[in-house]
Amino acid sequence: MNQKLEQKVKETLSKIKLDKKSKILVALSGGKDSAVTVYLLHKFGYHLEAIHIDLKMGKYSKNCLDAVEKLCNNLGIKLNIYDIRKEMGNSMCNIRLSVQSEKSLKNCAICGVIKKWILNKEARKLRARYIATGHHLDDETQTFLLNILKGSPELNANSGVITKNIGDKKFIPRIKPLFYIPESEIKKYAITHKFPVIYEKCPCAIDSYRIQIREFMKKLSRKQKENLIKNSEKFLTKIKKEKKEIKYCEICGEPARNKVCKMCELLRK
Ligand code: SF4
Ligand SMILES: [Zn+2]
Repeated sequence: MNQKLEQKVKETLSKIKLDKKSKILVALSGGKDSAVTVYLLHKFGYHLEAIHIDLKMGKYSKNCLDAVEKLCNNLGIKLNIYDIRKEMGNSMCNIRLSVQSEKSLKNCAICGVIKKWILNKEARKLRARYIATGHHLDDETQTFLLNILKGSPELNANSGVITKNIGDKKFIPRIKPLFYIPESEIKKYAITHKFPVIYEKCPCAIDSYRIQIREFMKKLSRKQKENLIKNSEKFLTKIKKEKKEIKYCEICGEPARNKVCKMCELLRK
């Protein structure tokens, strides 16, 4: 089982032809998915650094930080810590509350936009060529379905093992080595290897729509999930033909699809 998982990840990585000299910045959350990602990239000999965004969400964040420190120490990988309170002046909970009082958005939607913005900026600062995340088959099928059900299939255009349709020097492509691996197999792998990770769920992960989709997906077999992803890839090659022009946000200077990036759009009152 473990060997099969490793083989599948190797095949995924060879598909995107990563070279072993370019620096990959692995985003570590403290959970099993990103731990398996960094472990395998390290095992396969890639040039790595790790980053952890300390969201300052009380005991949960403290446990996440302890876990990533232990993991990086065990693997001998340099860990960069982004302290959100020091860098942005507040904890993620408070940043979210101030956004939510103005706009009706889900916790994870806000947190996700902010984390993506931080990762891109930090990866550039650290001269990384790629950002690797722990997204897996279940995450990807969930997002794919969610976008279709919300009536925004075009949002799936950036999905894939590597973000493709954004060719801009300020944008660091994101790779997902576990793209074809179901969550259950990742969990077994992490347990077998006794990785120092936390298995508790984020206390702020409250998104009823995503939870509904997750429940529905529990009824799907691995084959059905793989089919969904395979078909989505066929469908996406059509959308990806039109590369969208990238602008720079007029507030923060980061790459954006509009005049103002999503992150600045969230934070402005
Ligand atoms: S589960 Fe949601 S709120 Fe919690 S860290 Fe992830 S994106 Fe943020
Ligand atoms: Zn901006």
